[in-house]
Amino acid sequence: MVFAQDRVPVNSETMAQIVDFHAHIFPNPVERVLPLIPKKGPLAPYLSQEMLDFVRRSARQWLTPVADSMHKAQVFMRHLPETARNALDQVGGLASVPRLFIESTPSDLIEAMDLARVDRAVVIAHPPICSNEYLLEAAQENPQIIPCVNVPPGTYHPGQALKKYVASGARALKIHAAYDGEGVDSTRYHSLIQAAADLGIPVILHTGCIQNRVFYKNPKWGKAELFAPWFEQYSSVQFVLAHMNFHAPMIALDLAQKFENVHVDTSWQPAEIIGEAVRRIGSERVLLGTDWPLVGDNMRLGTARVQEALDAGIINAEDSEKILGLNALRLLRLDEADAAGSARDLVSSKEDTSNATPA
Ligand SMILES: [Zn+2]
Repeated sequence: MVFAQDRVPVNSETMAQIVDFHAHIFPNPVERVLPLIPKKGPLAPYLSQEMLDFVRRSARQWLTPVADSMHKAQVFMRHLPETARNALDQVGGLASVPRLFIESTPSDLIEAMDLARVDRAVVIAHPPICSNEYLLEAAQENPQIIPCVNVPPGTYHPGQALKKYVASGARALKIHAAYDGEGVDSTRYHSLIQAAADLGIPVILHTGCIQNRVFYKNPKWGKAELFAPWFEQYSSVQFVLAHMNFHAPMIALDLAQKFENVHVDTSWQPAEIIGEAVRRIGSERVLLGTDWPLVGDNMRLGTARVQEALDAGIINAEDSEKILGLNALRLLRLDEADAAGSARDLVSSKEDTSNATPA
């Protein structure tokens, strides 16, 4: 398989925006470690913030071939027998952790976006590692960040909490049932989805049964098909199946074919699956997703895979434009010209048109 890794994506001719619908940020590990390091001693001059940031940036370059190999291997894992794949799910998940020390902060994200020519990114909170408050603050400082909150278990009145987060700038809700270990009958999830319906914001679901017990309390709750009752019950809510169900994208596409309120993101999927998604459900409900910064170089590779599908003729230029940004802007009800994408507009426009159904 050939990866169009070094191609600059698309959309540059039409100047349409490129939006990554699935990224993360984490607090700077250097800032957390630095105060613990003695200020005196022979190593002190080499352990400044500048030096450590230089090392982090350099390490990204050295590890580019490793990241490329891991991305290629990930695509082939789905074809392995289940026992072998389950073992590799554990290893693969853990192998992505060190990368977070060298690339994961808001400024790293902006740098990666510049390199991949991505204009905006839907950045998803992951409490407690990346709290909703941290994310909303980062989005205030970086208007390219479109915040997606994840209201954690134990939150008092979760639906109300979501409404407060939206009033503070959140544009979408993430539900990570495999991480939480909760199922579709969870009353907490139901109150969150009802609040999302009231607010007219999309709901991103982690999908993909990844057998990693370190990261997921119950990997089973990554199976996309288990969420079908929600798609029917909350027909006005637009759901996004993150990672297109990872190892089993055809199940995600079956669901998207059956339910018109189901969208998929392209993270961890090769060009041919992006093409298959367009063939089966059309390009309007396929969204660029990269899951940056996990593994590394995700943003560059994620956009390149859409370009690869275009180059191979399995999607056309119009499809590519929609996948790379137009669909995301429509789903988030962001005006293409609204560079800042102020989330407060969403709350005020919702108040004006409280009966409007989301696009
Ligand atoms: Zn993710």
